[in-house]
Amino acid sequence: MAQLSIHHRKCPHCGSNYFVKRGYFYKQHTKTYIPRYNCKSCNKTFSTRTLSPTFKQKRTDLNPQVFQYLTSGASIRATAKALGCTYKTAYLKFLWLSKRAQDIHQKQRFSLKELYFDEMLSIEHTKLKPLTIALAVSDSYEILGVQVGKIPAQGKIATISRRKYGYRPNESSVKTKDLLTEVKRQALIKRFTIKSDSKPEYHRIVKKIFSNLPYEQFISKENKDKRREQKYLKTEKHIFDPLFPINHICARSRDLTKRLVRRSWCTTKVPEHLERALYLLIAKNNKYRLFS
Ligand SMILES: [Zn+2]
Repeated sequence: MAQLSIHHRKCPHCGSNYFVKRGYFYKQHTKTYIPRYNCKSCNKTFSTRTLSPTFKQKRTDLNPQVFQYLTSGASIRATAKALGCTYKTAYLKFLWLSKRAQDIHQKQRFSLKELYFDEMLSIEHTKLKPLTIALAVSDSYEILGVQVGKIPAQGKIATISRRKYGYRPNESSVKTKDLLTEVKRQALIKRFTIKSDSKPEYHRIVKKIFSNLPYEQFISKENKDKRREQKYLKTEKHIFDPLFPINHICARSRDLTKRLVRRSWCTTKVPEHLERALYLLIAKNNKYRLFS
């Protein structure tokens, strides 16, 4: 009987442990021979890679590097160029990594004392098609969840946007609600303080989902003005920012995700991909183990 790792003592197809070794296959890039097995009960074959998360991948060696690049402010195309692989390889790795990050994230449970949430703005190819990113952060700087939704363009470009691309739904409230519902599911301790900026809709949403939890809203604009003045006054430099964790994480994500960098050439073309890129960031920020 061939020796298999602890996870593979059974046939992955039928669960029988009556199987024999039958040859190898060669993995070109890692230069290793992987043994194959033949199940005597169902006559199907399998290898140690059958149940592996990287099953059917040729360049498993690139996974950690692609992850590192994509969460260090590189675009998918730049990642491919730096690693000497094709765009398609890097793109497929992006999809795989984000799926894995999302799966791990959804199984996580968080114990938090404070919950911060806010919305960030981004765009879908053009400023005429803005996107909103609802983001929740805990007091220990873990990203608790993320939701991306479409919002209509505002201000002077609103009419141009409507003429060119038609009606655009406003998913801001829906996505914030989804985000908070998801956080409620993943919270271990059901009692914590919720903090956000003073957007009027938030009060209604929070009261609907967390009816009896303490909720504080802060006026962020006043704080920003104060900070701007303080730069020149040189009196008290450190002004306490009550929403620091969420503001810090938002600033970090703008730096680490290429498509969120301001005044960048790189934009999101598919809104789902923005969410995928953010899951990579969650995996990096929350230190998930994607490769073991
Ligand atoms: Zn079998």
